[in-house]
Amino acid sequence: MTASSRDLRLIQHCVRRNGNVASRRTLLEARIDPASIDAACRSGALERLRRGMYALPEADIDQRRAVMAGGRVGCVSALRRVGVWGGLDTAIHIHVPPSASRLHLDEIAALGRSPETRRTDKTFWAEPGPPRVHWQRANAASTRTARSWADDWLADPMSALRQAVLCLDDEHAIAAIDSALRKEVVHAHNLESLFRSLPRRLQRLRVELDPAADSGPESIVRVRMRRAGFVVEPQVGIPGSSDLDLLINGVVGLDIDSRAWHTGEEQISWDYGKTLQSFAFGRPTLRILPHHIFDMWPSTLAAISRAVSDMEDLHRLRRMNRNRSTG
Ligand SMILES: [Zn+2]
Repeated sequence: MTASSRDLRLIQHCVRRNGNVASRRTLLEARIDPASIDAACRSGALERLRRGMYALPEADIDQRRAVMAGGRVGCVSALRRVGVWGGLDTAIHIHVPPSASRLHLDEIAALGRSPETRRTDKTFWAEPGPPRVHWQRANAASTRTARSWADDWLADPMSALRQAVLCLDDEHAIAAIDSALRKEVVHAHNLESLFRSLPRRLQRLRVELDPAADSGPESIVRVRMRRAGFVVEPQVGIPGSSDLDLLINGVVGLDIDSRAWHTGEEQISWDYGKTLQSFAFGRPTLRILPHHIFDMWPSTLAAISRAVSDMEDLHRLRRMNRNRSTG
């Protein structure tokens, strides 16, 4: 038997609405006839990823891997799908139910985004390799009130964020929460329950949050600079230009450039103008790229510290001269 074209369209519509992957249960709840599901699989319109889980051809590699392994896209992999900072790990992170016993982790290790395909804001999929598996506590799952369209294959935002905070180191965890607040994936009133569900050792992160940050790398630099004893103000205005990302000790600006992931001639021209403008305004600005943060921080910090102390010396000398001339 083949699925009638009407049945097929109904199935495709239903799976697409669910984010290109759907469980048999979801399809049956949509009153789709089991025989039509099987016929759609035989015709190639629907792909069976594992028992009771189906995908359209356009389902992406993260979705396929998570579901084939027996879980759902979770933790940092789920956050990245909605543009939230998820740290630097290139592995896929999946959530599996506490009862999961037969996982197919080996089957998905060879799959993933080719490492030659540069990661961008739009190509966030994990590279091949063993997945990071997170067993979700039963009570975390039961806090959900209603089934969401993506429940079959994607962890809900709060569970993903909670897991990511456990999975990431301090600075990336802070950057992830800042980013989730900024993207309105979670809201300020959700922080209470998020932190209530986190262990005591992570409670101290709360005072370091600042959703004013414009990007993950900016959050990370803010955290590092404050922990190194500097006074850091985020998003400070420069007359005639856009805000400085960070102002250090009131004297040196820092602009965090995520050019590794997106670029454009117009943006570059604007950035140069902004740097020039900051000097004209008496707040010299250093512009740093992600690799200055993640690959060579000690020399980057030394450069920033030197610029800050030189500017502070200059301000002090000017003050002394002023006092001498007026005194
Ligand atoms: Zn994780």
